[in-house]
Amino acid sequence: MQNSKKHALIVGAGVSGLATAYHLNQAGMDVTVFDKTDATNNCSFGNAGLIAPRYIIPLASPGVISQGLGYMLKKESPFYIHPRLNKDLISWLWKFKKAATAERAKAAGPVLRDMIRRNQKILEDLQEKDNLEFSYHKNGHLTLCETTATLEKEKKAAERAEELGVEAKILSAEEVFKMEPNAPKNTIGASFYPEDAHLHSNQLMINLRQLLQERGVQFKLHTEIKSIIESSTGEVQAISAAKESFTGDYLVVCGGAWTADLMKKLQVNVPIQAGKGYSITLKNPPNSSRYNFTMEEKKVAVTPMGDAMRFAGTMEIVGRDMSITAPKVNAIKKAILEFFPEYSMEDLNKEDVWVGLRPCSADGMPYIGKINTRKNIYISSGYSMVGMSLSFTAGEIIKELITTGKATLLNPLIDPNRFN
Ligand SMILES: Cc1cc2nc3c(=O)[nH]c(=O)nc-3n(C[C@H](O)[C@H](O)[C@H](O)COP(=O)(O)OP(=O)(O)OC[C@H]3O[C@@H](n4cnc5c(N)ncnc54)[C@H](O)[C@@H]3O)c2cc1C
Repeated sequence: MQNSKKHALIVGAGVSGLATAYHLNQAGMDVTVFDKTDATNNCSFGNAGLIAPRYIIPLASPGVISQGLGYMLKKESPFYIHPRLNKDLISWLWKFKKAATAERAKAAGPVLRDMIRRNQKILEDLQEKDNLEFSYHKNGHLTLCETTATLEKEKKAAERAEELGVEAKILSAEEVFKMEPNAPKNTIGASFYPEDAHLHSNQLMINLRQLLQERGVQFKLHTEIKSIIESSTGEVQAISAAKESFTGDYLVVCGGAWTADLMKKLQVNVPIQAGKGYSITLKNPPNSSRYNFTMEEKKVAVTPMGDAMRFAGTMEIVGRDMSITAPKVNAIKKAILEFFPEYSMEDLNKEDVWVGLRPCSADGMPYIGKINTRKNIYISSGYSMVGMSLSFTAGEIIKELITTGKATLLNPLIDPNRFN
C-alpha cells in the first residue's frame, strides 16, 4: 500500500533544523534531515544557551554601528568586521545600516518578545511532556556592570523592556552580591531580567536528535545538498554533492550561515553574513553561579551548564573562516580570570576553544516562512545571536504554514521574501 503521509525534507541539523523536524514529526509527517557534517558541532552546540525575552532589540539597531566602529580599532574588543571588497558583504552592510533605525527596533520588540516567550513554552513542554533533559532553568539573567556609564545604559534598556511588559530591575552592587556572591569584585550594579532562562545547548542538541530518531525522523549525515528543484506540481527534490536525489512534498532550508548559498540557486536573496563567536567551557570549576549573566563591558555571556561554566562572546564578520583570532579569545580568557582568580592564563591556554558561525541576517531579524516564488519551499534561518531563543517558535510557524497556510506569530518583519 502506498504511504499517504506527507514527507518533509530539511536541510541542516542545527537547532533550527531539529526544531522544525520536531514540529513536523508531531504533525504526523515523515521527516528527513540532511547535514553536510555529522552535525555534532555546528553553531547550535557551543553557544551561551540563553533563552531570553530580554533580547527585544534586534542586532541592527541605533547606536550599534558607531559602537562597532569604536570596537574595530581595539585588538581585544568583542566585535570586528574584516573590511573587504566583497559584493555580498557590502550589500549586507548597506541593508544593515538602513535597518538600524529607532522605528524598526521599536516595531521588532514585541515580535521578538512574543516569539521568545513562545520558544520558552515549547522548551518547557519538551522538558515536561517529552521528558527531554537539557538543564533548563528559568531563574533570570543578570547584566553585570563595572562602570556608571554602562549602568546608565542598562537603566535605559530596562525601561524599554518594562514598556514592552518584560520585567526588568536595576540592582545595586549590594543586591547583586547577595544574589550572586561570586560576581566579579568590580561590579557596581546590574540589571536583572527575571523572565530569562538558560539551558545546556549541547545536551539539548544531542538529546533532541535522539528523541527525533526514536520517533522515526531520518538523518542523512555527511550529505551536502547542492541544489533544490521544485516541479510544476510542487514536488521538491534535494540533490546532494554525490548527485543523489531525494524527493519530498515540502523542503525547509535551515542551513545556518550557509543558507544564502542554496537560496541564491533558487534566485531568492536572503542576505546572511557569518558572525564568528567563541566559547570556553570549564568543567568542574572551583565555584559556580545560579544565574546566567553577562559581563557587559566585555560582552561575555556566562552560563552555568550542569557541572560546567561556559564563557561565550565575540562577533567577527570575517566570512566563513573558522580560524581562531587569538586576541579575541584572550579577551574572553581575561573575563574568566576576573570571575575565577583561581585560574592562570596558562591554565586557560590549555582549555579547548569552541568556534561557531552565527547566521546573521542583514536587518537583525530572522527569515522564517514560505518562499513566495515556490509552492513548497520554506526557510528558517538568519538567527544571528538568538537562534536558541527563536528556533522552536520558528519550527512551529513553519508547521502551521505547511498544514494550514497561516501562522499565529507570522509577521512581515520576519518575512523571508523581504529583500526580493
Ligand atoms: C558564541 C555564541 C553564543 C551564542 N549564544 C546564544 C544564546 O545565548 N542564545 C541564543 O538564542 N543564541 C545564541 N547564539 C546563536 C545561536 O547559536 C545560533 O543563532 C544558532 O545556533 C543557529 O542555528 P542554525 O540551526 O540556524 O545554524 P547551525 O547550528 O549552524 O546549523 C546549520 C547546519 O546546516 C548545515 N548545512 C548548511 N548548508 C548545508 C547544505 N547545503 N547541505 C547540508 N547541510 C547544510 C550545517 O552543516 C549546519 O550543521 C550564540 C552563537 C554564538 C556563536
